[in-house]
Amino acid sequence: MKASIMIMTGDAGGRLARNCLRAVKKNTPPELIKEIIIVDAGISPDFNHASEINKILKIFSGNVFVHLDDDTIVEPGWLKAMIDCAESDGRIGIVGCVMKNGRGKIVHTGSTIDPDFYGIDLNNPINEPRDRKYVCSAVMLIKRALVEEIGYFDESSFRKFYQDTDYCVRAHKAGFRVVCAHNASAVHLFGATVKKRADKNELHKMDHEAFRAKWEGSSLMPSLDIIEVTKRGVTYPSFACNIKCAFCYYRKSDNREHRPIEEMKAEMDRFRSEYGHDYVDITGGEPTVYKHITELVAYCRQIGLLPTIITNGQKPQIIPELIQNGLEDLLGSIHGYKEDCDAAMNKKGAFDTIVRTFESCRELDFTFRTNTTLLRYNYRNLPRLAEFLTDIRPRIVNFINSIRTQALPGRKRNKSNSRSTSLISLLLSKKRSIYSPMPEYG
Ligand code: SF4
Repeated sequence: MKASIMIMTGDAGGRLARNCLRAVKKNTPPELIKEIIIVDAGISPDFNHASEINKILKIFSGNVFVHLDDDTIVEPGWLKAMIDCAESDGRIGIVGCVMKNGRGKIVHTGSTIDPDFYGIDLNNPINEPRDRKYVCSAVMLIKRALVEEIGYFDESSFRKFYQDTDYCVRAHKAGFRVVCAHNASAVHLFGATVKKRADKNELHKMDHEAFRAKWEGSSLMPSLDIIEVTKRGVTYPSFACNIKCAFCYYRKSDNREHRPIEEMKAEMDRFRSEYGHDYVDITGGEPTVYKHITELVAYCRQIGLLPTIITNGQKPQIIPELIQNGLEDLLGSIHGYKEDCDAAMNKKGAFDTIVRTFESCRELDFTFRTNTTLLRYNYRNLPRLAEFLTDIRPRIVNFINSIRTQALPGRKRNKSNSRSTSLISLLLSKKRSIYSPMPEYG
């Protein structure tokens, strides 16, 4: 089977298009390529992505059509894996691939659609082909049989966004499967092309409204797909810590041993191969003081067990090294706003130090999450903390309610302390701004 590969670009002579083409030539066996068609549509206000795809869909001569955005870099084996997947079942009409960002982090293994008709990228690692609501057209294989059955992209409704989502939904409607091939991958520098467009937000809004209007009420749009349960292990390389939080349940423990790295690696192997875990949370104690932490992170990444550290953020200098060695995610504890945090963590300057950790993540374009335990030290200033967290934009903010078991100042410990309820209400009033995600288009 041979593919017609279309590379869509706004600047055929530019760096993106050259890198994309170079990767196609380097990582694709020539016998799988029928033709490579580069479409330079420029960055004009009249650009209509669906219409550009349709021009090629009408004339391609290969057995299958493959669309690439110019901000993708396909990896070895990509096309064979996608073709194999397409051939594995006559009902498969569209095949996508695993996409990573520039640092190798998986950002897309297909997508689903939320109740407001926005696309949601799924990013759990996958070990077998997965059926999806839709896959991103940045790397999309379309079978000729599907084109013959449902026709072309809807260029009258969509200009830049949702044309791929719509096409996949139409494929489902015609009885075809849309699948992400687990063993085909590409780096996608998301939005590198569309970022140049000043009207991208407006375009996204218009196309999203068009998508909603077209599919609202359709039986193909149940609220949410079942998103795979993450298989996640938790490991404790040491109970040592570099601070003594006032509320820590380990602070009276004398156990400061560091587990041997070989023992840790054996445990990680077990997580991966026996339990089939995809992720591991490395906690403690404080994982950044574990003497083999960098080696452990690198080993986890090497065996496909994506590592998160759950950290007090008091060693910001180690963050770049961990990210470079394959850290997948960071969950940082910030137990209050400024002095409240210092009081809870029993260390002057603890707040400023963890903020440096978050800044270090941001500088490296590395997303992070935060944990705040609700405490008698921090409850008065939670609104300020909420505003602060909104500004620094963690990916997820967790508030952990332990107030019920603590005595508030001037009160006796009371398991049914109603103060906890009002604290939660107060935080929920901030929830919308904290949780509202930054839209990323492209
Ligand atoms: S950072 Fe964690 S382990 Fe260290 S003292 Fe605080 S709660 Fe305990």
